[in-house]
Parts: sequence; structure tokens; C-alpha cells
Amino acid sequence: MHANIVVLPGDGIGPEIIAATLPVLEAVAARHGHTFEFEEHDIGGIAIDRHGVPLPDTTLEAARKADAILLGAVGGPKWSDPNAKVRPEQGLLAIRKGLGLFANLRPTKPHPAALGASPIKPHLLEGVDILVVRELTGGIYFGDKTRSATDATDLCRYTVAEIERVVRSAGRLARQRRGHLTSVDKANVLETSRLWRDVTSRVMREEFPDVAVEHQLVDSMAMHLLSKPRAYDVIVTENMFGDILTDEASMLAGSLGLLASASLGDGKVGIYEPIHGSAPDIAGKGIANPYATILSAALLLRHSLGLEAEAASIEAAVSAALDAKVFTADLAPAGQAVNTTQAAQAVIERLA
Ligand code: NAD
Repeated sequence: MHANIVVLPGDGIGPEIIAATLPVLEAVAARHGHTFEFEEHDIGGIAIDRHGVPLPDTTLEAARKADAILLGAVGGPKWSDPNAKVRPEQGLLAIRKGLGLFANLRPTKPHPAALGASPIKPHLLEGVDILVVRELTGGIYFGDKTRSATDATDLCRYTVAEIERVVRSAGRLARQRRGHLTSVDKANVLETSRLWRDVTSRVMREEFPDVAVEHQLVDSMAMHLLSKPRAYDVIVTENMFGDILTDEASMLAGSLGLLASASLGDGKVGIYEPIHGSAPDIAGKGIANPYATILSAALLLRHSLGLEAEAASIEAAVSAALDAKVFTADLAPAGQAVNTTQAAQAVIERLA
């Protein structure tokens, strides 16, 4: 297959982890007879410096024509003045919205070799394999806002169509996995949550009768995610609850440097990026963990290019590198860590 992949390194460690990941994709392409063409564009702080805006039109245009987008991270102290007119993170929101990417997928599967890095007891983590699907373009983050001297409001609004499409994505994913979906809401208090629950129940009953569905209130879900994480397969929820629960779920895996994400819409195109930020404290040192970005590239192969065997081969190679204790500084005791390039090389050496 021939695929056109737009690459957005961004800021901080972004260019380092992207530079480490592209050779992994090239190695997979060479082994399986594919050609991947990489087209690099600016987003975030570097785009503000070069073009005055966090998402230049040229970047959005290229992304619209691409088969998939691989992103590093954006942001950093240079652009974090709260009074600044343009901020790097606006670039991320704009590109997700511009491409209609309404479902954010975050898999969490703690690796046996990294269990010690999590604050949760290892016996609770064994066998955990969760996929959170967060609604990404609706809800309270995008509703009308008001502010006066004495009060402020944020409107939370969801339409039936917005709920249906993300629940369908989650239903399809649950079907490909262990056939269990947990929908998270606050239906005892919020009207938007009551709509969420009604629509979810109907879509799942009519279109996914083979998937088991359970509804959970977000407050008890926050507790269960830590006390019995093995009980969950696919979790679907609205934007703000998903924002909070995905960060909580990330603690199950120990290091931010191991967690990948995908943002998908109705079509094949998606944005694939590690969940961590631009890590300005370690940028330029060549010590960042590239595994989360490499695992994001695996999600890209699976969800945008339909290359399941190739995706699985990357995941297995990262797992084998972790088994062999090829750890960057975030995971290794002092003096025993490899650098970013060495970690990526260890993955390439272990590709089937
Ligand atoms: P961060 O994720 O960048 O860093 C948090 C801590 O984790 C730091 O100590 C960092 O060194 C470490 N870390 C993160 N990724 C790592 C990796 N791959 N390997 C080893 N260690 C790693 O979060 P932050 O410090 O809160 O934010 C820094 C900047 O990143 C801010 O400007 C923030 O707005 C931005 N940010 C961007 C994204 C994104 O691009 N999607 C997400 C979160 C934060």
C-alpha cells in the first residue's frame, strides 16, 4: 500500500520522539512491502514563531489530504503567557475540529515490566486492558461561555447525533475486543447525561445487541477505575468526564511515556499522538521515552490504514523491548537508561 502521512513534530520533545518513530514506520513498510510518504508541517509554538498562528492553513490543508496524521506534542514556557493572544494548544483544538475528529481513543494496558512504575498495587493491574473512548468536540468545553464581575457560566450541550456517532464508534471497537461497553455519565443530576444514557441504550440495543452494556455514574467510575480496573473493556463518555478519567487511567500504566492516543471521525483519517505533552524539562537532551509515539504509530496503521498485522507487530516489538528492560530514564533506575534513539532501535530490532 502507498500512504501519505502528515507529520507534525510540534514543540519540546515533539521533534525528538517523531524522529525516533519514523524509522520504525519505515522498517515496517520495508518488511511488508508498503511505501509511506512523510510530509512535515508546523503546529503549536513553532507555528506561532514561523507563521503567527498555531495552525497555519497549509498544515490544515495538508492534513485534509493525508491518509493519517502523526503528531508529537505542542506547547512550552516560551508560549505560555496566559495573556497571549495565540497559544500552541489552540492549534490542537483547531485541527481536531477542522477534521471532524469527534472520538478520542486511549488504550491502557499496563506492561508487566512497568507495573512497579504505577502507584496502584501490581495485583490490581495484572490483565488490565482498557480502551477509553472520549467524545472530543462537544459538551461543556465547546458551549457558550459568559463572565461578569459576579458570575460565570459554561453551557453543556449535546445533540442526539453527537452522542450517536461516538457511541457507534465505541460499539464497533467493543465488538472487535471483548464485547463489553461501559457508558459513563451523571444521569442522576444532568439533563445532558439523561439524554446520553437514553441515546446510548437505544443505539446499543438496536445496532449492537451482541455487545454487553453497563451504565456507570462518573463519580463511582472514578473509584472503580482504581479499585477494579480489570472489570472494564471499552468505556465511552462525554468530553469533560473523558478528559478526567483518561488522565486517571494513565496512572494505571505507570509512565506517561507509554500511552498512545488516536482521534477519529467518520472517515479513515485520524490524528495519532502520545498523551503526554512537550516535556520542556527534558527537551533537547535526547532522553525522552519514544514508546508512546511508536505505539501511536501502531494505532495509525490499525485505524487509518487498516494494517492490523503491521500494527500488532509494532505493539509486540515495544512489549518485547520492555520485557528486555530497554528503558528510558522515566522507567529505569539512574545509570541504566537508554536514550530515545536506542529505545526506538530496540523496537526496530524486535519487529517480526
Ligand atoms: P508533560 O506531559 O509535557 O510532562 C509531564 C512530566 O512527564 C514531565 O516531567 C516530563 O518530563 C515527563 N514526560 C512527558 N513525556 C515524557 C516522555 N515521552 N518521556 C519521558 N518523560 C516524559 O506535561 P506538562 O509538563 O504539564 O506540559 C508541558 C507542555 O506540554 C505544556 O506547554 C502543556 O500545555 C503541553 N501539553 C501538550 C499536550 C499535547 O501536545 N497534546 C498535552 C499535554 C500538555
